[in-house]
Amino acid sequence: MPETIVKIENLVKRYKELIALDHFSLEIKEGEIFGLLGPNGSGKTTTINCLLSLLSFDKGEIEIFGEKMSPTNYNVKKQIGMIMQNVAVIDELTVYENIDYFCGLYINDKAERKKCVDEAVEFVGLGDFVKYRPKKLSGGLLRRLNIACGIAHKPRLIILDEPTVAVDPQSRNKILEGIQELNRRGATVIYTSHYMEEVEQICTRIAIMDKGRTIALGTKEELKKRIKNTETITVEVMQLSEEKLSEVRALAHVSETEYSEGRLVVKYSGGKHNLIRLMEYLKNNDIVIGRVFTELPTLNDVFLEVTGKTLRDSV
Ligand code: ADP
Ligand code: MG
Repeated sequence: MPETIVKIENLVKRYKELIALDHFSLEIKEGEIFGLLGPNGSGKTTTINCLLSLLSFDKGEIEIFGEKMSPTNYNVKKQIGMIMQNVAVIDELTVYENIDYFCGLYINDKAERKKCVDEAVEFVGLGDFVKYRPKKLSGGLLRRLNIACGIAHKPRLIILDEPTVAVDPQSRNKILEGIQELNRRGATVIYTSHYMEEVEQICTRIAIMDKGRTIALGTKEELKKRIKNTETITVEVMQLSEEKLSEVRALAHVSETEYSEGRLVVKYSGGKHNLIRLMEYLKNNDIVIGRVFTELPTLNDVFLEVTGKTLRDSV
């Protein structure tokens, strides 16, 4: 059995009247890339700040590496790498000096530190920019510097809070691949995001959060298996009467239909030949169609079924 790295039990955090975390529990095992997925305001950053003892909380227990977490538990803290949602680097220092500074908080030995800093520079691909100051870097490069500062000391647990927000696609891919590489090298990772695609792409297990609670937990396959929706087909249709729409709804395995702005959206629950059957129906009824798209369920469908709203809308 892999070791338990993080255990959060019944965490409650209030900001005055607002309940940001509502009896939130979580267990993360060694070797996971654990995804905390939720819309803005669902409590991801609050969870991370409580976890690191950066924020006091009203109720609950937190253990990391089997030890009770506290603001002064440096033995635990030094084995954690934290990449904050808001980039936290020092403007007066160069890229290299920044990484060296943060690494120096953990590693005293000069030679060892130099090795770690060089590796971190290489790892995030900032070799051409070591003499730059942060202000000169693009958003994506700045994020990569932020990450290098958090991982240079080779932590056992790496926590990244929305590291890809407002990042160009190239840096974004580099960041996602980097996280997977750090995990292959042995780090356990906690990754928060409101982008379901990213969480699906890299996370081994996912907790979907809403209003300070976990609304679903599991691998992406487990989460998707739990919902009714199995397939969504969208067809561009110039015109569709109410009568025809209700006939579509009556086709086998259809669970939901919607027609607006020239788009017919049909949701299915099970069934193997849904697309062929739908195409046959449209053809037999002389309904002219444009493009056709089919989608497998996403984590957004999971969120939608549990909360009644979409992840995208609530962002
Ligand atoms: P997320 O990281 O998922 O976007 P947060 O943990 O930042 O969510 O916020 C959770 C909730 O707590 C939100 O409703 C937010 O407005 C509120 N909140 C966060 N920080 C504070 C604070 N310092 N004071 C008051 N309310 C806060
Ligand atoms: Mg946040």
